[in-house]
Amino acid sequence: MTVLGAIEAGGTKFVCGIGNEQGEVLERASFPTATPAETMENVISFFEGKGIEALGVGSFGPIDPIEGSDTYGYITTTPKPHWGNYNLIGKLKEHFDVPMGFDTDVNGAALGESIWGAAKGLDSCLYITIGTGIGAGALVGGKLIHGLSHPEMGHILVRRHPEDTYEGTCPYHGDCLEGLAAGPSLEKRWKVKGHELSVDHPAWEMEAYYLAQALMSYVLILSPQKIIMGGGVMKQEQLFPLVRSKLQELLNGYVQHPSLTTDIDQYIVSPGLGDNAGLCGALALAKEKLSR
Ligand code: ADP
Ligand code: ZN
Repeated sequence: MTVLGAIEAGGTKFVCGIGNEQGEVLERASFPTATPAETMENVISFFEGKGIEALGVGSFGPIDPIEGSDTYGYITTTPKPHWGNYNLIGKLKEHFDVPMGFDTDVNGAALGESIWGAAKGLDSCLYITIGTGIGAGALVGGKLIHGLSHPEMGHILVRRHPEDTYEGTCPYHGDCLEGLAAGPSLEKRWKVKGHELSVDHPAWEMEAYYLAQALMSYVLILSPQKIIMGGGVMKQEQLFPLVRSKLQELLNGYVQHPSLTTDIDQYIVSPGLGDNAGLCGALALAKEKLSR
């Protein structure tokens, strides 16, 4: 059996795991995201002596996932204190001489879902997380999307809801998708924690209004075979039917495919890997690196 290591590097915590090529997580531990020195000491001692043969890292970003680039393996321009311009893969390479896969947390999650989860057997899918921020990753033609760097699909512009006067939280763009629809903007707009809003609160209709616009853009640009929606905010199950029907309204029949018409309940879904989507995503990055 091949022993794979996985790191879900988040802005709040780093989740480390040992798993295999079947996507099974055999051991895991979680460490708060403190300074790089403190965090990486925990991470490195977790993996020491475990005999990992490859390591996958799905990270918060922005990151540089382009092999051959001078800053490959770095967390680049994050506003998170101490982590800007940090050579994450370089640090791990000092301790583990194994192949390492490195990508965004959401690209990893999209890959993991396509191997073991809700998009199993498909060669395209999109994974979006709506949590502290909004990010999406996508597999198209069997490959994760990269270009100049990685996509930043959480920062697209959306049409404002007619009743929304909230200015938006994004430090770069104000009222981009993340600025209007991530967990913190929900809380600032309605002045209560997201999980304290009742299921029939108008907040959810507004939330779905923004999310459906984003999905419309992704459908039109990438044409994914499955859309998987995860993250803390999507624990609000009532969002799923709202997002599905608003997407249908927006598309207005223009893209004629059963996935968007009769079968939309199976098209827009929650992660097949559940709360393991992030960690299994990192595991998938390790598996992919080893097979290349
Ligand atoms: P992160 O994005 O940091 O990885 P999460 O995906 O858990 O973590 O997202 C955290 C965000 O989601 C917070 O803004 C939180 O308020 C919001 N959130 C978490 N659980 C819920 C819930 N049940 N309902 C609504 N919002 C939630
Ligand atoms: Zn933005």
